Amino acid sequence: MERNTTQQLTPATVDFDKPGKQIGAFHVPFSAHDDAWGVVPVPVAVISNGKGPTVILEGGNHGDEYEGPITLGELIRDLDPASVSGRLIFIPAINQPAVMAAQRVSPIDGINMNRTFPGDPLGTTTRQIAAFVNDVLFPMGDVFIDLHSGGSSLDIIPSAVIEPGKSPEQHEANVAAATAFGAPIAVVIDNRGDPRTATASAALAGLTVIGTEMAGGGTVSIDALALCRRGVRNVLAHLGVVPRHFATPVEKPPALFELTSRAHVIVEDDGVFEPIHRLGTEVRAGELAGRIHFITQPGRKPVDLHYRADGIVYGRRQPGRVRPGNCCLVVATPYESKKP
Ligand code: CA
Repeated sequence: MERNTTQQLTPATVDFDKPGKQIGAFHVPFSAHDDAWGVVPVPVAVISNGKGPTVILEGGNHGDEYEGPITLGELIRDLDPASVSGRLIFIPAINQPAVMAAQRVSPIDGINMNRTFPGDPLGTTTRQIAAFVNDVLFPMGDVFIDLHSGGSSLDIIPSAVIEPGKSPEQHEANVAAATAFGAPIAVVIDNRGDPRTATASAALAGLTVIGTEMAGGGTVSIDALALCRRGVRNVLAHLGVVPRHFATPVEKPPALFELTSRAHVIVEDDGVFEPIHRLGTEVRAGELAGRIHFITQPGRKPVDLHYRADGIVYGRRQPGRVRPGNCCLVVATPYESKKP
């Protein structure tokens, strides 16, 4: 097979066609002042055995979200290739420079990896990494699992995320995978139709796609990590890549929600955000959502914030300090309400 530009520029130290377990990296060229022919080594692992689907598992798309990368590292170390039917390709710290810096975006080029797909093999580092995933990995894949958490700025109800399918069949497969994950809720998130996310790019490439949101705040949540560990194994068993006994029985299907165009509560003032409700609280559009306080101007009355959608409080900003344009709250609306 003729190698495309991305493969030539970003060689991998693993052979994706070889059976067994390999742990290595793909090398993104990074010619710095102190390292003329250096690279950014992005960790990658392959566990392959016999016939079955190829599943690509991604963590660290944002560098301050940890439940996914921890779960993938454990699977890389623990899974015996003999128990795999198909191929697992792990990229547990995909935005390696952001993960090393514990930042959402890359310290090299300031780019949010999840707004730069399909990437560019001749672009800056984050775009080159995205191009490797899009141009080299996605064509090998049948399923893409993208493990996110809320990151430093948000706390989100641990949940499976449903990427809207490009066809009814793909949508059904995405919902089935999210259901198999076994979280209490699953949320359809289209990021306002933005095609530059990893999951949107994978869906365009025809893969079955499942995502997560796992708490956040830049910490490791005990409960979200336990859910993530179970959920990823549940999805792999659902796909038939690992045996059924790897899965934890799920008592009931998730409640389905979606983020509508009115989900987000955006601040217009420079101040300190006071939330009113805990995550999971049922709220209505127009209801008081929070207040912005002006703590250096004690005589100034706080500004009220209001929800813009009916549903549950799905995500909440973590830092109290806010500036105009910050997202303070996210409301997830029951998905059933829109079904015919
Ligand atoms: Ca994220």
